[in-house]
Amino acid sequence: MNIEHSKQAFLKAQALIPGGVNSPVRAFKSVGGIPRFIASGEGAYLIDIDNNRYVDYVQSWGPLIFGHRDESIENAVIEAVKHGLSFGAPTEAESDLAELIISIYDSIEKVRFVSSGTEAVMSAIRLARGFTNRDDIVKFTGCYHGHSDALLVQAGSGAATFGTPSSPGVPADFTKHTLLAAYNNIESVRKCFQDSPGIACVIIEPIAGNMGLVPADKDFLAQLRSVCNEHGALLIFDEVMSGFRACLHGAESITGTKPDLVTLGKVIGGGMPVGAFGGRRDIMACLSPEGGVYQAGTLSGNPVAMAAGLASIRKLKANGRVFSILEDRAKRLMEGFKDAARKHNIPLQTDVRGSMFGFFFNENPVSNFADALKSDTQRFALFHAAMLEAGFYFACSQFETGFISTAITDMMIEETIIAAESIFGAL
Ligand SMILES: *Cc1c(COP(=O)(O)O)cnc(C)c1O
Repeated sequence: MNIEHSKQAFLKAQALIPGGVNSPVRAFKSVGGIPRFIASGEGAYLIDIDNNRYVDYVQSWGPLIFGHRDESIENAVIEAVKHGLSFGAPTEAESDLAELIISIYDSIEKVRFVSSGTEAVMSAIRLARGFTNRDDIVKFTGCYHGHSDALLVQAGSGAATFGTPSSPGVPADFTKHTLLAAYNNIESVRKCFQDSPGIACVIIEPIAGNMGLVPADKDFLAQLRSVCNEHGALLIFDEVMSGFRACLHGAESITGTKPDLVTLGKVIGGGMPVGAFGGRRDIMACLSPEGGVYQAGTLSGNPVAMAAGLASIRKLKANGRVFSILEDRAKRLMEGFKDAARKHNIPLQTDVRGSMFGFFFNENPVSNFADALKSDTQRFALFHAAMLEAGFYFACSQFETGFISTAITDMMIEETIIAAESIFGAL
């Protein structure tokens, strides 16, 4: 595969932008090799600037559930652009998207839009603190909630890959209110509540996707709910990734546990920068200008972004079967990987939630971050490079989740399995 143009582009970018990228994981640091510079996307495919074509299992890290250049989303964006890019004043599209989300998520009674998942989580936590009048928060090791200071405490994703549990530049004073618990381990949560008298909220990815795909146990979430109730702490589901990816109605609909606040992002922007946080009306009422908790954004609820989000969520709501179709494909892909790995004596753990899939080169099942870290990252790097060379674009870290879009066909899945099998044989 010729990647000469990407090589040159990466060299140029590295001279101009730290690491050559505007988000660290894109630099391929944990797998090695040259990140592909993308010229365009088309349906299931990414096309790089050397004109190589890849079946895309990253989908911009989640947002593109209908693949690249979905016609209805593209048309909605073009139509919105013709009316103006931004007004800094309210538009009806914001209420339309809010109404749609509220109609789909049981636990969301009011919602506010921001421009990224990071902002959504940061604001939801401020709101939880303002509502409860408490400072401390609990997060889980291996869960990623964006790059705001208080949450860069042994985060997963890029931070885990780089082996820096917390980032330089974050004062210890800013993270001293963040308590860490172990995922799927209720005792570790109870311990946090023993250690602190003033916990405002517990934030969790109910279907964790930033340490690889690691869903929370149903029972664990139910226990988490009761521990929060017992202590008057709020429960926040960070569904920036899993929202509209695992299923239509949110993790609460498949786990039975209701959060007080939910954060969303990725799919709700249809590929445009959108984040949102919402939940109980009495909590949301604390937000400025209704209440005193300040939060704002020049481009929040941007009309072009709202148009993309509306087109995307409307289409999901109208196609009730879409998640089961995507889940069947994701399951077939993971079963195919598992069978192929078994043939070549490679230990592989797999999981699927709707259109999300994950696989670990690991001897044992993975239920938390410590388990995930026992995976064979060198083997993953070899696998990643070989699949890329064969035209299959997988996330460039063992600790990321894969995504199926509606543009990925059953035949592409079978071709991916065949490619993986021959690569497993060579590992
Ligand atoms: C991606 C992600 C974020 C951060 O969203 P950005 O839009 O990248 O700021 C927060 N939480 C979770 C669970 C995510 O997957």
